[in-house]
Amino acid sequence: MKGEIINVGTEILIGDILNTNAQYISKELSSAGVSVFFQTTVGDNPDRLMSVLKESVERSDLIILTGGLGPTQDDLTKETVARLLGLDMDMHTESYDKMMSFFHKISSKMTQNNLKQAYMPVGAHIIPNENGTAPGVLIEHEGKVIIMLPGPPRELVPMFRDFVMVYLQGKSQDKFFSNYYKVSGIGESALEDMLIDIIDNQTNPTIATYAKPDEVLLRVTANAKSEDEAKLLLDKTDKIIVDRLKDNLFAREDISLNGLVAKLLIDTSTTISLAESCTGGLITSRLTETAGISKCLHSSIICYSNDSKIQYLGVRKSTLEKYGAVSRECAEEMLKGLIKNNNTDMAVATTGIAGPTGGTEDKPVGLVYVGIAYKGNIHVEEHNISGTRHRVQLKSANIALNLIRK
Ligand code: ATP
Ligand code: MG
Repeated sequence: MKGEIINVGTEILIGDILNTNAQYISKELSSAGVSVFFQTTVGDNPDRLMSVLKESVERSDLIILTGGLGPTQDDLTKETVARLLGLDMDMHTESYDKMMSFFHKISSKMTQNNLKQAYMPVGAHIIPNENGTAPGVLIEHEGKVIIMLPGPPRELVPMFRDFVMVYLQGKSQDKFFSNYYKVSGIGESALEDMLIDIIDNQTNPTIATYAKPDEVLLRVTANAKSEDEAKLLLDKTDKIIVDRLKDNLFAREDISLNGLVAKLLIDTSTTISLAESCTGGLITSRLTETAGISKCLHSSIICYSNDSKIQYLGVRKSTLEKYGAVSRECAEEMLKGLIKNNNTDMAVATTGIAGPTGGTEDKPVGLVYVGIAYKGNIHVEEHNISGTRHRVQLKSANIALNLIRK
């Protein structure tokens, strides 16, 4: 199947936003066995969109459009596609009702221009949007498939994954089966480097990476007639990948590091308290993203100043004078203070120099101590993290989460 992507939006053309939708959709389509031959970006201009559309229906079987489904005057994607195919626009009652109840829920009145979002080309299939008001649209027309999705990635991604991919699977003779690997501690390009020989030589299975700050999802997808056949294909690469990723592999499903750690704590009923200095509450904030963590998370203190380390954790003044707050000794005393005060199964502490200023020759920016106390053992690690303040904090939090996991 030959596919192409058309991203509609002047803000992409003028460089205001990065076209992440094109990258995401291209990866997904390739894994679904669709050959993507064109990506076009066009502004919110119906004439130029029409000219791109005319070309695309000549050369492709599947056309995916993103953006321009919203309520405003410049949102013209549906209207332009309908005009090209000679379809009328009609009110789609289900979408209208859903939109009404959405506005009711957020206690806001639906304005007239929102109504536009419920008008659909006649005969179109509607793709529900659980995270916004503009539904997606799928049209099958003279052997071609045209799919329109809203621009915001947080709306588009779930719709693509849960609807478009399922639709494409249904159309294909082959089925797709995937292995997931969740990796932390190395970036996307280092990961690609590590697997470059496999990536370069693969057509089936295909390998794709999806990066979040300091967390990468690796997806290996096999295209086969049966699950057994797919398993054979996936097994071939599985051992090599697991071997090479080593400790960096933290899960074999699409789960975040903090989600995995929170789940571990909950499943094992392990209580935890934290003292965060250089991470400023980041670890705690990430743990609290998971519902049910209240069962395990006793408390967290952001002890940024020396005084607070003394006052709340019983760190000795002499320790701070002799070794400084950014030291193994201080981290150890922070942990002891946590266990003494809170009596939790586990304690975690961070202290470091996030920068960009404040470093010395002895203690440069990026020097971080991350410690954990568990079952009577205290373990403190020293790390030297390069990069921006944000990166030092993020990496420190990840080191702490990895210590909890192990
Ligand atoms: P809305 O209802 O929000 O208006 P829409 O379907 O009309 O949705 P646009 O108006 O084109 O979409 O874009 C809305 C926002 O979605 C943009 O401001 C941008 O933040 C994001 N967005 C749009 N297209 C892309 C893209 N290709 N890649 C990444 N983000 C995008
Ligand atoms: Mg819009």
